[in-house]
Amino acid sequence: MPLIQIEDTRQKNRRPSVTCMVGRVSVGGSHPVVVQSMTNTDTADAAATADQIALLAAAGSELVRITVNTRESAAAVGEIAARLRDRGVRVPIVGDFHYNGHTLLSEYPECAKALDKYRINPGNVGVGEKHDDNFRRMIEVAIEYAKPVRIGVNWGSLDKSLLTQLMDENARRTQPVADREVVLEAMVQSALRSAALAESFGQPHDRIILSAKVSDVRDLVQVYRALAVACDYPLHLGLTEAGLGAKGIVATTAALSVLLFEGIGDTIRTSLTPAPGGDRAEEVRICQQILQSLGIRAFSPQVTSCPGCGRTTSTFFQELATQVTEHLAQRMSVWRTQYPGVEELKVAVMGCVVNGPGESKHANIGISLPGNGEDPRAPVYVDGKLKVTLKGDSIAADFGVLLDEYVEKRYGVLRG
Ligand code: SF4
Repeated sequence: MPLIQIEDTRQKNRRPSVTCMVGRVSVGGSHPVVVQSMTNTDTADAAATADQIALLAAAGSELVRITVNTRESAAAVGEIAARLRDRGVRVPIVGDFHYNGHTLLSEYPECAKALDKYRINPGNVGVGEKHDDNFRRMIEVAIEYAKPVRIGVNWGSLDKSLLTQLMDENARRTQPVADREVVLEAMVQSALRSAALAESFGQPHDRIILSAKVSDVRDLVQVYRALAVACDYPLHLGLTEAGLGAKGIVATTAALSVLLFEGIGDTIRTSLTPAPGGDRAEEVRICQQILQSLGIRAFSPQVTSCPGCGRTTSTFFQELATQVTEHLAQRMSVWRTQYPGVEELKVAVMGCVVNGPGESKHANIGISLPGNGEDPRAPVYVDGKLKVTLKGDSIAADFGVLLDEYVEKRYGVLRG
């Protein structure tokens, strides 16, 4: 009997939700957590937007959202969809509407038809009676074209009348809660009430997805835990305005990991601020890496490499880890179709014999380089067994050959 019972909770406890079809993609239920992204081109520029959607789709984005904020952008949506069709890109396109969605969806039926989902921010559809009228109009269009909607609450544009109402109610309590609690409650209520309103207008229950994004990790976890128990709509997760670089990546990963590990979340997005001229597809790769690190989905072979230390004073080890990672990335465009299952491959590149052989044995294929003062030999382990010991100046190239042979042998056989 093991001393410690390790419980693997990853997605076994997936929160039950209905399945919502977005174009050809199933969201929720027992379907895989879907990766999505958003363009940052001017949607009115159909060519540039179609190019970026194609780029995001090629990187693995399974839904792509575009802003539809002006008449020009609404008019361009049909052409964007046609350009993508011509290129064989079939990723579902989501239209992001604020303020004037009711007008644009009514006046541009080609846009309404071409989009696969409408994102509606209930905080930005108008105030007072106009709120319900505008919201109703968007739902009517969704019903007419049989499109799902995402009720996307964002704390930066929270429904002010609802927030004021909840703040007033809180103030009348004998023991009022903190304002922060009221804001988070307002977010949950805004999403749930809007969904109920949409259903009262005729939108089917299984054509609604909810999100309630905030920019603080703990707040996000609290809001989504509340939503998860309050409804069975699929939930789209994302830490809004995550920020730049490492901060944005770490904060998003921290927030999403807690929720995903609890079985909450049916689609995810990383809302990174890109560096000027940066690669927009980075947000897709980060989502994939989050899911793969949690063992929820596999997208590409993973390289385990140690950080190096005083035992690896030359750069050879870092170069090899980089070369192996690049080798895998290059090969994957072909391997993905040629060798189903190759995305599960685990490769270890280790700096010395301290942890090298042990880590290599846990990988499908692993190499352990000589550290300072060790014999200039690099043992290669395949499926836990020592296969060969590489020497000389061509260790990197020789390991690349072994890697290719391993993939062909293991995943080529599976294919047959
Ligand atoms: S495996 Fe070796 S080189 Fe890598 S961190 Fe550990 S001791 Fe240092």
